[in-house]
Amino acid sequence: MLTLRSNLESSVAAQNELVRADLPSRFASISLVSVLSLHYLPVQMVGMVYLAYVLVEAIGLMVYRWLEHRVTWGGILLLCSSAFIGVWVFNAIPLLLFVQPEPFPKLIGVMLLIIALNHCVVARSAWMFFGVLTAVPIICAVGYMIFSFLNAFASPMENLIAAVILILGAAYVAHSMWALNRLTGRLRRALRDAKAGSRAKSRFLAAMSHEIRTPLNAICGMAELIEEEDVDPETRRERTALLRKSAQALTSILDDVLDHAKVEAGHFELSLAAAAPRLEIMSVVEMFRTSADEKGLRLDVSIGPGLPAYAEFDALRLRQVVGNLLSNAIKYTEAGHVSVAVSSEQDGGQSTLKIEVSDTGRGMTAEQLSHLFTDFYRVEDKNAPSVPGTGLGLAIARRLAQMMGGDITVQSCPAEGSCFTFTCQVRVLEASEIVVDQSESETPDQDESALDLGVKSILLVDDTRSNRMVVSAFLKKGDFEIIEATNGAEALSCLESRQVDLVLLDMKMPVMNGRETLTEMARRGGRIGATPVIMLTANAAPEDRAQYLALGAAGYIAKPVKKSVLLSEIRKVATGRDTQAA
Ligand code: ADP
Repeated sequence: MLTLRSNLESSVAAQNELVRADLPSRFASISLVSVLSLHYLPVQMVGMVYLAYVLVEAIGLMVYRWLEHRVTWGGILLLCSSAFIGVWVFNAIPLLLFVQPEPFPKLIGVMLLIIALNHCVVARSAWMFFGVLTAVPIICAVGYMIFSFLNAFASPMENLIAAVILILGAAYVAHSMWALNRLTGRLRRALRDAKAGSRAKSRFLAAMSHEIRTPLNAICGMAELIEEEDVDPETRRERTALLRKSAQALTSILDDVLDHAKVEAGHFELSLAAAAPRLEIMSVVEMFRTSADEKGLRLDVSIGPGLPAYAEFDALRLRQVVGNLLSNAIKYTEAGHVSVAVSSEQDGGQSTLKIEVSDTGRGMTAEQLSHLFTDFYRVEDKNAPSVPGTGLGLAIARRLAQMMGGDITVQSCPAEGSCFTFTCQVRVLEASEIVVDQSESETPDQDESALDLGVKSILLVDDTRSNRMVVSAFLKKGDFEIIEATNGAEALSCLESRQVDLVLLDMKMPVMNGRETLTEMARRGGRIGATPVIMLTANAAPEDRAQYLALGAAGYIAKPVKKSVLLSEIRKVATGRDTQAA
């Protein structure tokens, strides 16, 4: 049996909708024309044509309804036949008027056909075949009128000229139909895409809202419970730990969402730098050791020989991919072990890293595997413990792997476990090519009892009180003064009145935002312009950092602020200032 191609199906459906919507005005026009033509034509003749027309439209109405439910070859055949017959029946009235001896009904006949032709272009070009099918009888009727009119007096040359003009007119009608057909086709596709986008957004919002509520629920609950006074220190510590874990979960959801949006928009770029693959992989594995221990899972790592000591690659994104695979392996494994096996193959200056993450967890069926890298896909398993997640991690990880010149593949067996293989290309570096970034290799967390950050005063600018409270609390053990301001204008008047060693500047603030404040500080120059600024902002996309540094900021911290990151960034900026001053 012949199957309908999807674009034919959608053209027929769109055309059906158009002719159906046009039915009342079409019917009203025909009725009016029939009544007016009674002035020249006998009532029986007009009545017969009108009845035939009503019959054809009645059949058409049934066909429209049928096609609305399902587009089939039978429906298409009936739609075309009823429209074709309908046009011939309609043509009858103009032709009958044209054959009258007086000149006025002849003119009316021609006018009616021109209107009908216009109708074909405007309302029947959603499906090109349908438009042409109904325009041809009208053009034939126009041709008949022209040549029967010329017959009485025109020379062969004049007949030829008329024929050329008629053909030209018909070609122009066809061209207009085609142009409109393309335009409506494009609009239909845009509408379909917009609807699909809107559906995806709704799905996304529903998934996010659910995922965000889970850690949020814990945060709100724990925050309330921490206030209870008759709680032993151990319980309070547990609650605080859960609060922190939930906040971290919330941050990682937000990171996933941001990454997903960037990948979708095609704005994702790798940032290549020299790093040690072994160190990066080991550090990410160690990050997950506690979670594996908590679940009683053994976490093994084996690094094969030949791994380059240093290479050029995006260490942050490599850690993100390995971290995602490891976190999944631990999340979806109840007992047994999780192993990470690293090997590499060198080819000239390039090396292909192969990182296999295998587990003895719940595994997946072949059908589940086929959807695995789709956005928002999560395996529904009512018998397994429910695990939080967005269903975005693997989709992002695979795209990152592909950007790194590799891929992620998976082998899995239900109830036995899974093995994810991540490959990526790195450029092997010789010892002479390596420039180690001191700031990255610093250990961020330092002993807080010795909180000497190399500054005597810090101006903290943020309009949100809770943000100022958090930062002040992180810095409270330091031997320096903290001055608070709620916007850029306040910060500037403070800087005018006194010397400050460092400014922690929020971006989004009323009166004067962070960007304006930075620009104004640079414009004023002197002591104010030289005061180092660390941006402390919720604009956390990777390009934001570069943007703020280009504006003159000395440092950048994305919210939510971690104490260790805050201290190390302040120390870094303060040390840089000292070095410059020396
Ligand atoms: P998330 O873990 O946030 O749901 P991912 O995109 O990382 O999103 O994973 C998608 C789905 O793939 C998960 O929901 C899970 O059902 C399945 N999955 C991923 N890794 C594993 C694994 N190691 N073992 C079993 N199932 C897994």
